[in-house]
Amino acid sequence: MISKNMKELVDKSAAISALFTEGPRLRKLLGDENVFDFGIGNPNVKAPISVNETAIELLENMDSLTLHSYTDGAGIPSVRQAIAESLNRRFGEEYTGKNIVMTTGAAGGLNVILKVLLDQGDEVLTFAPYFSEYDVYVANAGGRLISIAPNIPSFLPDANKLEEAISSKTKAIIINNPNNPTGVVYDEETLKKVAEVLNKKGKEFGTTIYLISDEPYRELVFDGVTVPYIPKIYGNTIVAYSFSKSLSLPGDRIGYLTIPSTVEDFEDVVYGTGVANRVLGFVNAPALQQLVVARCCDEKSDIAFYDKNREILYNALISYGFECAKPQGAFYLFVKALEEDDVAFVNKAKEYGILMTPGRGFGCKGYVRIAYCVARAVIERALPSFEKLAKAYKK
Ligand code: PLP
Repeated sequence: MISKNMKELVDKSAAISALFTEGPRLRKLLGDENVFDFGIGNPNVKAPISVNETAIELLENMDSLTLHSYTDGAGIPSVRQAIAESLNRRFGEEYTGKNIVMTTGAAGGLNVILKVLLDQGDEVLTFAPYFSEYDVYVANAGGRLISIAPNIPSFLPDANKLEEAISSKTKAIIINNPNNPTGVVYDEETLKKVAEVLNKKGKEFGTTIYLISDEPYRELVFDGVTVPYIPKIYGNTIVAYSFSKSLSLPGDRIGYLTIPSTVEDFEDVVYGTGVANRVLGFVNAPALQQLVVARCCDEKSDIAFYDKNREILYNALISYGFECAKPQGAFYLFVKALEEDDVAFVNKAKEYGILMTPGRGFGCKGYVRIAYCVARAVIERALPSFEKLAKAYKK
């Protein structure tokens, strides 16, 4: 018999599992051409050619035993150094390899850092809407995730609400920038206000509040927007980065944590992350992929493709009467449902072959997420269906 905990997780995961099964079910019913699956955030732009070339070069030329062996829990030293140097070039930092810990994607990195930081019962705050897996990641480390109500319609973090939510048990806050599911990019001014509150409340309670910045979408930004580099704003920041989206490598499970030397108890945190990688069963980030990203970390896949998808879909939806904050990052639109119940709205959309994700899964009822990382033709063919869906609510 499976545990009660796992049973609960399985039940809660039903909505996520449905994202994978609903597409095939609807395709059978309506035909391939009439189903528009905007459910899953799986990149559909190819990895840069250099990724495969580098992997092939390594596989052909590197000693097999070295290439495939276990690595240090924190990653291969030369890889950590290469990533540090890339960050130094981009953000004017002075990192060394010691500031970098290689992880199995951002998911692995988040689980690792939460394992290192949390004691049983510690609280972690995040701003809704948020990536729903945070609930589980925090629970995995014995903590409790508390979400701060969404700031509608901007979806930017609200520093006043943050101040009210912080308690003596607050160990960390998770920020996701650019944001999944809204695509909103948090600006520097907003983040400075967040930092002020963290400093103020930390002093008041005599505690250390870590900021964990989850940044798998850092490179996916449009309109010339830049994503503020949070360690420059709040010294006690740890960044969880991933190549899942920037290099389109979600299945290869590769990312890293940046732990600046300004982080409280820096030495212990770094040492702890290597140990956490091991004891959580990751052992080390995939060796081949570590070596690949060390050489390809300054590249990115074709962001312009997502930008064009965004423009086409956003402009069309607005013209049909939908409401949505124009996203400047990631590959999601977060659209107001045309009825109060977002689940009912998602079900109604299925009648038109459109698959979306209810906002309540991200802690924000009344909205739906549209993942536009799909072929251009899918967007173009879906537009008449979106228009019909909007009209169905105008009667
Ligand atoms: N954080 C956010 C906000 C995400 O959207 C995702 C994946 O979609 C992850 C973390 C996990 O990404 P990774 O594939 O790097 O583990």
